[in-house]
Amino acid sequence: MRALLSKIPAPLHGKEVVREENCRVCNASTGTQIAEVDYWDIKTSKLVKCNACNHIQLDPMLNDAETAKGCFAYYIEESLRVSHKEIFRNCVRNFRRGVVFGYSLKNRGITPNKVLELGPGSGYFCVGLQFVFPDIEVTVLDINEEILQANQKNHNYKPILEVPDNFVPACAGKFDLVIARDIIEHVSNVSSVIHNVNQYLKIGGHFHFITPNGHEDVWKHYLTSQLTNSTSELLINHVNYFDGKSLKDLLHHKGFNPVEYYTYQIKTTWRGKGWKKNLKLMSPASTKYNADKLIKEKATEIANYTVEKKQVLDQWYIKPEAKWVTLLYSKYQQSSLIKIDPELNIGHEIYGLFKKTKPVNKGIGISFREGNRYYAGTSVL
Ligand SMILES: [Zn+2]
Repeated sequence: MRALLSKIPAPLHGKEVVREENCRVCNASTGTQIAEVDYWDIKTSKLVKCNACNHIQLDPMLNDAETAKGCFAYYIEESLRVSHKEIFRNCVRNFRRGVVFGYSLKNRGITPNKVLELGPGSGYFCVGLQFVFPDIEVTVLDINEEILQANQKNHNYKPILEVPDNFVPACAGKFDLVIARDIIEHVSNVSSVIHNVNQYLKIGGHFHFITPNGHEDVWKHYLTSQLTNSTSELLINHVNYFDGKSLKDLLHHKGFNPVEYYTYQIKTTWRGKGWKKNLKLMSPASTKYNADKLIKEKATEIANYTVEKKQVLDQWYIKPEAKWVTLLYSKYQQSSLIKIDPELNIGHEIYGLFKKTKPVNKGIGISFREGNRYYAGTSVL
């Protein structure tokens, strides 16, 4: 057992490369190429692991137009694949997650008033949060106008049309809580995003995020490269693969201290992600899936499915007059029993709650020790 555990996570090997674009976490100009991916038929990029800070990112990174096209194609592909029943269930699950998160804040004596959610999806996480804190005011930021309209119509949230990488001056110093659930793995410049989050928060405000453990998330692409020497397919724009320590260090450099930081869901690790060299765990080899063709042929086939809020909230355990019932059931359904230190890079998803302890200035330096060489860079802003 101990011998097996010492193999998890397995090291990622590859050839040393000079990067086309520097590391977006520490600005290093070299790295180790661990795989190559095709983002639809839009772009071929290397997956490069930084030797200085261990962050893995696409090199070259996707630009905004490429991301927009791929995301629309993915939205169509997903809409045709996922049933309405599943979409509905996800709304209910996100409500429960919001309830559990809200009570965890309450237990820590944190009472947010103004909340900003980056990439809110259906918006039900904040509905759950509002169940706990009825007075909170929610603002949502997204690049998709339809998502913003739905959030405004269904939940009365304030919309901001923007990518998280770009700074919105109107938000500066306004918020007690910024939420980014499954967002930071998608952004092209994670340093800018965290920098912006710091600026949007009041001193003492909190940043909550979840994001995949990068080592397990990248494993499928690594295997395709190692076992078949081919380029793998990337349909959802995961462009960052986080190392638990590197992410914590980046947050620290951007003025945040951890309140809660752990990885949860270990069943992916049991199945071999992050250590087992098994063909079944590989990402399919690239077929250069044609994004334009899919958009042209299938965009009209997406049925407009609207989730009725009344129905989502029509669950036996959602009782505003007995909130403890809602909490107990939500906790039973959504809580994770096993919590692992993210620095071990084991498990599926990283959960973070960080507190803003100081403001950051533009261009703050980030330094990491690389072997015997001391690497000093500046954040990319
Ligand atoms: Zn780096």
